[in-house]
Amino acid sequence: MSAAQQLNSVGHSINVYERADRIGGLMMYGIPNMKLDKSIIDMRVDIMEEEGIRFHTNCDIGGKGKNSVSMEKLIKENDIVLLTTGATKPRDLPIKNRDGEGVYFAMEFLGQNTKSLLDSDLKDDSFINAKDKDVIVIGGGDTGNDCLGTSLRHGCKSLTNFEILPELPKERLENNPWPIFPRVYKVDYGHEESREVFGKDPREYSVSGKEFLRDKNGKLTGIKTVKVDKDFKEIKGTEQTWKADLIFLAMGFLGPEDYLNKKLKLELDERSNFKAEHNIHQTSHPKVFAAGDCRRGQSLVVWAINEGRAAAREIDRKIMGKTTLD
Ligand SMILES: Cc1cc2nc3c(=O)[nH]c(=O)nc-3n(C[C@H](O)[C@H](O)[C@H](O)COP(=O)(O)OP(=O)(O)OC[C@H]3O[C@@H](n4cnc5c(N)ncnc54)[C@H](O)[C@@H]3O)c2cc1C
Repeated sequence: MSAAQQLNSVGHSINVYERADRIGGLMMYGIPNMKLDKSIIDMRVDIMEEEGIRFHTNCDIGGKGKNSVSMEKLIKENDIVLLTTGATKPRDLPIKNRDGEGVYFAMEFLGQNTKSLLDSDLKDDSFINAKDKDVIVIGGGDTGNDCLGTSLRHGCKSLTNFEILPELPKERLENNPWPIFPRVYKVDYGHEESREVFGKDPREYSVSGKEFLRDKNGKLTGIKTVKVDKDFKEIKGTEQTWKADLIFLAMGFLGPEDYLNKKLKLELDERSNFKAEHNIHQTSHPKVFAAGDCRRGQSLVVWAINEGRAAAREIDRKIMGKTTLD
């Protein structure tokens, strides 16, 4: 969106293609509504439309739906194609009994919740409902925290959050000096709210999943875990069984989904993101640029905006031979 706005402001003709039914990426269907009111995004999209940018929703580039368009067609019909497809391939936990209901990726839970909330104020029943359920969230990062906050709002019966790493220190260690990102213990809103509702912090540290547990009908009943040391080696005798009706996997993301790149075969970096230098943004294809999470890996909105603006500047320079964008 930031690239589209910048390029439109200097007179280029812009089409934005989005496979979801609403514009906004993870700001719309990732970050929960209680953290980011979606009317702010809608307002911004309305302004951009009035400024002449054309948005195409339900249009999966390189996908199979009836509105889909191939990358080859986009490249042929446009001067430049900018990929900003995000880093949405989730890390899985392929342990025994993974298949079947009850175990979901965090984004299935969060995305469906936001869509149902916006479509019907959660009345259409088309979301994964944590009400009165024993919920376990695997992964102690920001996405896991949003699953905690959302489960609490549904009215879950219990809430536990597994983190494979040990508890972080309260203050920076010597090997983590400023300005490196501080690797210290923090309490986010999901933890605070969980303490308020259940009287304790939901986090369990150094825990690794061994096996999902299901009854004879395949219904999820819980998970078997083991404690691990700092090198992730299992510690003998620490196996434990936990009760769960719902388990959400929030263990990070593995770069952009690859179907769009099947034929094109853009070069990827060592973390399987689209390879393109920051502040240059051109990929291995001269007409294809990349910016945001699909280039940098799962990150923050400020970086997506920064990259979108930088890519716009470089695209303008490539098309016009010079640029006034900063
Ligand atoms: C649960 C969660 C919570 C977060 N909370 C915060 C937060 O509080 N603060 C913060 O700064 N950051 C947060 N982030 C990170 C932030 O949302 C992202 O870094 C940012 O949205 C990245 O922007 P982007 O435009 O690069 O990609 P995205 O926002 O991921 O957008 C990519 C878009 O491309 C679409 N797309 C993908 N493939 C195709 C295709 N083939 N055809 C058409 N469309 C396609 C996707 O549907 C998506 O809408 C959070 C992330 C998650 C997962």
